[in-house]
Amino acid sequence: MHPLPELLAPAGSIEKLKTAILYGADAVYLGGKAFGLRAKAVNFDHDELAQAVAFAHQRGVRLFVTVNIMAHNRDLDALPAYLRELADLGVDALIIGDAGIFRLARRIVPEMKIHISTQANITNSQSALFWQDQGASRVNLARELSLAEIRQVKEALSAKVEVFVHGALCISYSGRCMLSHYLTGRDANQGACAHPCRYSYRLEEEKRPGEYFPVMEDERGVYIFNSKDLCLLNRLPELLAAGVDSVKLEGRMKGIYYAGGIVRIYRAALDYIEQQRHNDPTAKIEMPPDFMAEILKLGSRGYSENFFDGSVDAENMLYSGPKVTQDYVPAAIIAKQGEPVQMEIRHVIRPGDALEYMGPGLENIPFTIKELRTLDDSLLDQANPGLTVKVVADRHIAWQQYALVRRVRPSTGSGSASPLAAP
Ligand code: SF4
Repeated sequence: MHPLPELLAPAGSIEKLKTAILYGADAVYLGGKAFGLRAKAVNFDHDELAQAVAFAHQRGVRLFVTVNIMAHNRDLDALPAYLRELADLGVDALIIGDAGIFRLARRIVPEMKIHISTQANITNSQSALFWQDQGASRVNLARELSLAEIRQVKEALSAKVEVFVHGALCISYSGRCMLSHYLTGRDANQGACAHPCRYSYRLEEEKRPGEYFPVMEDERGVYIFNSKDLCLLNRLPELLAAGVDSVKLEGRMKGIYYAGGIVRIYRAALDYIEQQRHNDPTAKIEMPPDFMAEILKLGSRGYSENFFDGSVDAENMLYSGPKVTQDYVPAAIIAKQGEPVQMEIRHVIRPGDALEYMGPGLENIPFTIKELRTLDDSLLDQANPGLTVKVVADRHIAWQQYALVRRVRPSTGSGSASPLAAP
C-alpha cells in the first residue's frame, strides 16, 4: 500500500498560510516578491518569508517557493542573489518551470531541492525522466493527463510525482497562454494573467459598430474559453492507489474562506481514505457525498474532472457565465481562542446572528451571537469588516486560532441547495 500523499496547499498571504496549516496542510507553496507567477497575489518579502518559514517549520510543515516565471534575459541578473536568499531562509524547495532558471539554480544553490512546475508541461514519462536526470527531486505533471498516464509516469520515476487535484484550469496547456498578454497587455507567463478566458465575448461586424450578432449561448453572453474548475475529490482513492506523492490545491489568489475551506475538506478526505484502508486494505473506497456537499458550500464556477478519464468535451466548459453564486460567505477568522473568543471580522455581524464555526475535519458547529464587545469590553450592536472583537456565543466551542467562521449569504436567506452540479 502506498503511503498517504502530502497535501500541498496554496499560501497567498501569511494569514492564508496559517489557516492552511491549521486545517492540515502538510506543505505550503507561495511566491516571493519576484520571479513567481501570480503577480497579483500578496507575495512575500524577505521578512514575511522568514516569518512564514519559521511558522511552517515550527509545525512540521514544508514550505516551497515558486520561481516559475518564463524568464527573459532581463530577469536573469537578479536571480542568483534571490536564489541564495531563499536557500539562506531555509525554504524547503524551489518550484521552477523555466529550464534557464533551473540551470542557474543548480549552479547557485545546488543543495536545494527543485520541483518542476506545471508550467513545464510534463505530459510523458520521458519528459519527467529528463527533469529527474537534471536533478529535479519532484515533478508536477501537466493538468492534461489521464489517470492511466499519471500512473505510467509514476512507475517510470524515482523522483516524486505531484498532481493538481483542485482549482482553476486554463484552456491552454497548464497555463502557457498568451491570451491575456494580447488582449490586456498582462502576461500570464509573468504571473499577471487578467483571466480574459472568463470574459463574455460578443461578435461585431466592422461596418456596423455597436450592433452585436446574435451568437450568444444565453442572455448573458458567450463564454467560449471559460473552463470549469478542476475537482478530483471523488477520484482521490484512485490517485492514491497510483502512488502519487503529493496532491496539490490551486488558489493562491483565492480568498481565505475558499483557500482554507478547500484544505480542510481535502485533509478530511485523505484522512478518511487512510482510515478506510486501515479498516480493509482490499476494499474499493468511495467518497461519501458529504465531502462534495462541503465543497459546494465554498462556491465555485462549476467542477470538472478534466482529463482524468481521457479526453474532455463541452461539458467541461462553463458557457452560461463566469460566476456561480456562493451560498455562504466568510464571517470571521479566529484571532485569539478563549472565552470570549476574539474574531477578526470579514462580514458584518450583529448580536442574534446565526453563524457556523468551521472546525478541523468536516465538523461545522452552528452558534448564535449572544453579545459583541470591543477588546476593552464595550458592548457593540454591530461589528464591521476589519475589526477584531470579542464574541460571546450561545454555546461552548473549542475555538482554534486561525480557524474560519462563516454565515449563510444574507441575500439567499438560507443554506439552500447550491446551483452547482457535482461532477
Ligand atoms: S487567460 Fe485563462 S487560459 Fe490563459 S493563462 Fe489566464 S486563466 Fe489560463
